Amino acid sequence: MGICRFCGKPAGFLKSEHKECRERHNRGIFIIRSMVESSLKGNIEKDKILETAENSYINDTELKDVIFSGWVEALENALEDRLISEDEENILSNILFQFGFSSEELSSNTSYIKFIKAIVLRDVLEGKIPNRVRIDTTLPFNFLKDEKIIWIFMNTRYYQFKTHKYYTGGSQGFSIRITKGVYYRVGGFRGHPVSKTELTLIDEGILCITNKNIYFGGKEKSFRINYNKIVSFHPYSDGIGIQRDSANAKPEVFITDDGWFTYNLLVNLANKV
Ligand SMILES: [Zn+2]
Repeated sequence: MGICRFCGKPAGFLKSEHKECRERHNRGIFIIRSMVESSLKGNIEKDKILETAENSYINDTELKDVIFSGWVEALENALEDRLISEDEENILSNILFQFGFSSEELSSNTSYIKFIKAIVLRDVLEGKIPNRVRIDTTLPFNFLKDEKIIWIFMNTRYYQFKTHKYYTGGSQGFSIRITKGVYYRVGGFRGHPVSKTELTLIDEGILCITNKNIYFGGKEKSFRINYNKIVSFHPYSDGIGIQRDSANAKPEVFITDDGWFTYNLLVNLANKV
């Protein structure tokens, strides 16, 4: 006689669950997820959720998973306009808090990062300096007094546009000996000079955004750029291009894997400086 994995009562020969128990369990999951999903329209009823979980044989671990998947849906709904209002932020934070999620366990979760990014951007748009980044490590930068870290992009690839000159279609030509060791090549042109500008990977490292500067720290290169020294920003799907205020400055590109956020963050910070 098998035991039902839901209710723990005998389930019959070679059986591990009652059909009714499984259905009750699945229905419970559906109801809880829907409640969390629609939480932006009203308050979250924690007691009702816990009661439903208990009546539907949903254990604590599974409940947390269900809550989080509903939370992600609610977040996506809130992010339809790409920003999170203060009300939405409060409701979404409250769900996480009430069901015992910590920043630590969520800090590498993609949806959670999206949530924090939207709040950071809202603060910057409202002229506030967000304080949403906790740094557990020493950053290789010498920050200025009163400088506030707003965001850190790890594993950022730093590119520069480099012009390579090469020649096409030339020949060695004929040589005339002028003096010992010196040759003058008749027709020794190496064809037509062609210059080709290519995006060249320079380094990989940390891109740190503060209220005053952009910092990059890689294995080879480290530098600080003040917002006032940037003439223009160029949005890319996976990063941002900048043009510094100098006659011979070539465009530089930072690939952060989130072009939309990087661009909006930097352009708005630069506007406020
Ligand atoms: Zn059962």
